[in-house]
Amino acid sequence: MIVRSRRIVLPDGVRPATIHIQDGTITRIGPYEDWSDNNDSYDAGDLVVSPGIVDTHVHINEPGRTDWEGFDTATRAAAAGGVTTVVDMPLNSVPATTTAAALEAKRTAARGQCHVDVAFWGGVVPGNAAHLDELVEAGVRGFKCFLVPSGVDEFPAVYESDLRAALPIIAARGVPLLVHAESPGLINPQSNPKSDIRDPKYASYLATRPPEAEVEAIRTTVRLAREFGARVHIVHVASAEAADEVARAKADGVAITAETCPHYLTFAAEDVPDGATEFKCAPPIREARHRAALWSALTRGTLDLVATDHSPAPPALKCPGDFMKAWGGIASLELSLAAMWSLSRDRSAGLSGPRGGAESPALHTLARWVSEAPAKLAGLDDRKGRVAAGYDADLVVWDPDVEWTVDSSRLQQRHKVTPYAGRRLVGRVQTTFLRGTPVWRDGRLVAAGSGRLL
Ligand SMILES: [Zn+2]
Repeated sequence: MIVRSRRIVLPDGVRPATIHIQDGTITRIGPYEDWSDNNDSYDAGDLVVSPGIVDTHVHINEPGRTDWEGFDTATRAAAAGGVTTVVDMPLNSVPATTTAAALEAKRTAARGQCHVDVAFWGGVVPGNAAHLDELVEAGVRGFKCFLVPSGVDEFPAVYESDLRAALPIIAARGVPLLVHAESPGLINPQSNPKSDIRDPKYASYLATRPPEAEVEAIRTTVRLAREFGARVHIVHVASAEAADEVARAKADGVAITAETCPHYLTFAAEDVPDGATEFKCAPPIREARHRAALWSALTRGTLDLVATDHSPAPPALKCPGDFMKAWGGIASLELSLAAMWSLSRDRSAGLSGPRGGAESPALHTLARWVSEAPAKLAGLDDRKGRVAAGYDADLVVWDPDVEWTVDSSRLQQRHKVTPYAGRRLVGRVQTTFLRGTPVWRDGRLVAAGSGRLL
């Protein structure tokens, strides 16, 4: 099978080429003319062909909270958005993925209903250090922990003593520890959904979780990473100061990576309407100066990648009108490519040269943020995240010029609540290939259940 386009996003740049595929794997990249018309071939013309997106921060919630989101709906949303691999977070499902038995329960729930590939993070919680080796042997790609209450009782925050027990094992295994870095001492407990305070004002919620809480938690993480020689990854960096702290640790040679999310780059606190709890997440969407600083940290490489932190909940739990009680989580798995391209394209628009020439660096950089770097974080970079020989033929074919308005009722996620509702975005997925098979085409799932558990 051959896929060709005038704009294929390859590791060394964007150019006309052909992708030769056998048994789901890319065998070689050929010149554009190296083409034969047959039933298996797919000519994408001028559409962009990028590596499938690897989203390393997705809460699928099944089993246990399947009414929030599940493998079927989440991986449908993924396929629709050009996401070919998701890495599921260990919490919000019941059981949480903190033992090998819990991982098996999750795999059992997932089997047969995944439309893209799914891998798993394990969890570090107080008292489960003895389970970490078995979790790695059972296939988790690394671990996630919270330094602050997670929002669900079955996934408690860790103290430093818990990390001291876990980090020697994690370092020996060479897998990353993903850290929700906010320090509980600097957070007002009223921000917790269990609070009795009612407050519709976004500014009130914002004030409960200041940037200093991120900074202090990153400092603790960096100190321990250095002491134990472990790889750490800061999830959802949301403030200028937190990004600066990551930059300092990198300059000091600490094995640290970091991500931010499309919503921190797209929205700003000044524009969040009071009562609009679809914007609630933790850490919060901050003021415009943070948004600008995060973009520049991303372009400088201080932030390595972009992941969605897709974390939906039933509309009733989003408690419209009450920022304190509302579940904190933003659902955007299907929208990351368009959200990120809308930002990237705007910023490349000022570049001179013919249109395609100006776009190419932006397309290439985008693929690094949403495909290549996340695959590396999850240790999947031998087969995912690049359009190159030897890699899985996971591809997203998309039109970078189509402008459209998000109609949340048409999203594939279980519940349709999202802050992107009604927003104009640029870039529309046409076809998503998973290991050489089209799984999503022209707005429809065309190959159900093709996903594998990695
Ligand atoms: Zn999360």
